[in-house]
Amino acid sequence: MLDNYGRSISYIRMSVTDRCNLRCRYCMPESGIKKLEHSKILSFEDIIAIAEAVSDLGISKIRLTGGEPLVRTKITALVECLAAVKGIEEVTLTTNGTLFARMARALHAGGLKRVNFSLDSLVQEKYSFITRGGSLQDAWKGILAAMEIGMHPVKVNVVIIKGFNDDEILDFAELAYKFPLQIRFIEFMPVGDLLFWDQSKVISIREVKSIITKQYNLLHTAQVGNGPAEQFSLEGGQGGIGFISPLSNHFCAKCNRIRLTAEGKLRTCLYDHHETDLKSVLLQGINRAELAQMIAQAIIRKPERHYMNGGWGANNNRKMYQIGG
Ligand code: SAM
Ligand code: SF4
Repeated sequence: MLDNYGRSISYIRMSVTDRCNLRCRYCMPESGIKKLEHSKILSFEDIIAIAEAVSDLGISKIRLTGGEPLVRTKITALVECLAAVKGIEEVTLTTNGTLFARMARALHAGGLKRVNFSLDSLVQEKYSFITRGGSLQDAWKGILAAMEIGMHPVKVNVVIIKGFNDDEILDFAELAYKFPLQIRFIEFMPVGDLLFWDQSKVISIREVKSIITKQYNLLHTAQVGNGPAEQFSLEGGQGGIGFISPLSNHFCAKCNRIRLTAEGKLRTCLYDHHETDLKSVLLQGINRAELAQMIAQAIIRKPERHYMNGGWGANNNRKMYQIGG
């Protein structure tokens, strides 16, 4: 369906848990996290009911996220149920990858089409620093597993942070040269509790691109998947590079997505703190048509753009792992 600004909304990102096996510095605090009680998060039945309702509105793509979606119990069964919903053409996943290798075949057989991995360093000590203890080897095994199964394209998201991984920009580009991977550089956003974020750590995509073009010839290609990335192939290489610039060149005019938090709050924009509580109406027994109607009303009110460059905003009390990045 179209929102008030004529954008066609075809894509939902569903957070299936607020829990995670890692503690990335820009996403989650190290401790003191109040976990949502099981009864507060969406059940499988709730998630499927929402998938059915959004499919009635023309949404055909679902991405599961979190927290870490692979820590949600029986995630494979959920993928299978969502892939079977009429009108849903694609179920995909965003993951830190560390648990993916052992689950890859089952997820793929269940109907998982593609995976985006998050990987901010290719150096174990730095990876462990940013994730507060994660294993780079496990994350890489996950990426290899996705390639081996033949998922295509396999995307790797790199949040680029000045003073942390800007010295690895060419190493990531080399990865896209050697492997059939889409490496996507993302500007570091002031999202969440901002304990790690500050303006001096932001590098614009323009700078990242200029570093890469000194070494590689970038050829513009058509957009891959549903994403906001400006997409390139590397001349002579196997994979490609994507640039995502939410701060320096926002893509709100082309935004096709809505988001669902793990506790069932619908957010029509990452930045906008207005939420529609779907969990409570599902508890009250809302029917499919009424639910679709409620979601449609929220979509119509989707804001024209974000104002993240002015900061996260005092009213925005959610962290990234709660919203579902
Ligand atoms: N656990 C999964 C993962 O890490 O891929 C899914 C959830 S995570 C919140 C989703 C994505 O949000 C990750 O790629 C992460 O790097 C990104 N993210 C979190 N905080 C961010 C920030 N401040 N700026 C840019 N990207 C951010
Ligand atoms: Fe976990 Fe993903 Fe957040 Fe890292 S970015 S703490 S892996 S939810």
